[in-house]
Amino acid sequence: MEFELVKRFRFEAAHLLPHFPEGHKCRRLHGHSFVVEIRVCGEADAHTGCVMDYGDIKAAAQPFVDSLDHRYLNEIDGLDNPTSEQIAAWIWDRVAPKLPGLAAVAVDETCTTRCIYRGPGRTIDAEGTADDRATRARGGSA
Ligand SMILES: [Zn+2]
Repeated sequence: MEFELVKRFRFEAAHLLPHFPEGHKCRRLHGHSFVVEIRVCGEADAHTGCVMDYGDIKAAAQPFVDSLDHRYLNEIDGLDNPTSEQIAAWIWDRVAPKLPGLAAVAVDETCTTRCIYRGPGRTIDAEGTADDRATRARGGSA
């Protein structure tokens, strides 16, 4: 049986979105209390009963989250257009090499908005998530 672990992080930062239309509110300098979720999928170890220690997720992701905290994101290398999508991919690219089983990075800009990135080459269709299709491909039930 496969499990999904979710570890949540927070950071505060400012940004502006330079490719939005003139006059759009997101083009003005503004800030968010960002929430980042790191999701890891895997089987539970027979002895520990765990997929992994949540502390291992924290150790892999916290340094990168900290590097965004109280920053002007547009000034960070690789984030000149710091949309939620680009922030999620930026985090994925840095955390994935350190975290086997990384399944998704989610970035919330506000209480009502969320972007979920499942890694390069993964696609999501209107029928369901990439995870659902992976389950079907293995012959399992969603
Ligand atoms: Zn914003």
